[in-house]
Amino acid sequence: MPLRAKVATSVSKTAAALSRAAGRGDGSVIGGWIGLKIDPELLSHLATGRAIALVSGTNGKTTTTRLAAAALGVLGPVATNSFGANMPTGHTSALAKAGQTPFAVLEVDEHYLPRVIDETKPRVVALLNLSRDQLDRAKEVAMMAQLWRTALAGHPDVNVVANADDPMVVWAAYGSQKVTWFSAGQRWQDDSWVCPESGDPIERENGDWWCTGCPLRRPIPQWRVEDEGVIDPRGDWHLVKLQLPGTVNLGNAATALAVAAEFGVRPIEALPRLSTVTSIAGRYAQVDRDGRNIRLLLAKNPASWLEAFDMAEQAPTLLSINARDPDGFDTSWLYDVDFAPLYGRPVLITGERAYDLAVRLEVNGIPFQHVRTFEEALATVPPGRLEVIANYTAFQDIRAELDRVN
Ligand SMILES: [Zn+2]
Repeated sequence: MPLRAKVATSVSKTAAALSRAAGRGDGSVIGGWIGLKIDPELLSHLATGRAIALVSGTNGKTTTTRLAAAALGVLGPVATNSFGANMPTGHTSALAKAGQTPFAVLEVDEHYLPRVIDETKPRVVALLNLSRDQLDRAKEVAMMAQLWRTALAGHPDVNVVANADDPMVVWAAYGSQKVTWFSAGQRWQDDSWVCPESGDPIERENGDWWCTGCPLRRPIPQWRVEDEGVIDPRGDWHLVKLQLPGTVNLGNAATALAVAAEFGVRPIEALPRLSTVTSIAGRYAQVDRDGRNIRLLLAKNPASWLEAFDMAEQAPTLLSINARDPDGFDTSWLYDVDFAPLYGRPVLITGERAYDLAVRLEVNGIPFQHVRTFEEALATVPPGRLEVIANYTAFQDIRAELDRVN
């Protein structure tokens, strides 16, 4: 590395360590920010010599990154941004902190994917899904797909691993030379009824989809979920034992296996490592408190709410909504979520925007009870399971009350 990059790396690590020591989070953002101020090309320098996989998409990035990093661990040490700092500052910090590793798996914010591809020259880019998210600031889905498509067209050497079930992802990946398709399912379909190529309606039937006006259609996936396992490109079925709940995580595991295979890792080697992953930054964590078994589910946008309802058991459920900066200030997305799956469960609501949620549930015909605090919620439900579904900062608030569970 050039001297400037060495100095920048060292200062970046020190800044991150100071930030951690001061109790200001994990320091990855500030550390990366300072490093990039000293050497604007620091991310490129730190990426040189590593075989890198990038993971992007609206939902499932953090979990899939964690699973893929676990799988690649078969081959040697893997650098990763496991705390969800998914912009270039976070990537810079993660690589600086890891020191020299032969591999890296990085979660990348959708908007930053083109820049991070340019700077890290990845071997593999995994595209998970695209759906509406924070409409007051994020791009529309079709614009994001266009952004990805353009970025990938400029890097024909990249191995793309993409979700065959999401028409927007397929369209974004279609121009790439080397694509491996996986099927991870798509519960949320309301952002892909119109073909991004021709503007014609998209039809769906039994998991298949096709455009009614142009050749765009679902590619045949090489990796897919079946029963409690994953089928690989040779047609072999592998039982997948995860500690993470839900069909969506089976899909994330299939994606991680497909990514690892691009580096030569076989499913049979990777699977034992996937089963060691418990929770990621509190997601899916289970905590026992006062006789209640509390499970934390993070849901940030309409698609992830649908997945959370699928994972949650028929048990008392606490919903918490905030609208701070990381959540987006606009809560109108609550009307994109159908809360009907909660019917019949005791529902509690809390959070700074609990009243927005109250109106939504009223319209949806779901009975609920408002509680002011998490403590009050605990006292209100009987001993046993309490499912907690919260959006980003609301999730962090509850996680803090539970002593920052991992
Ligand atoms: Zn079309």
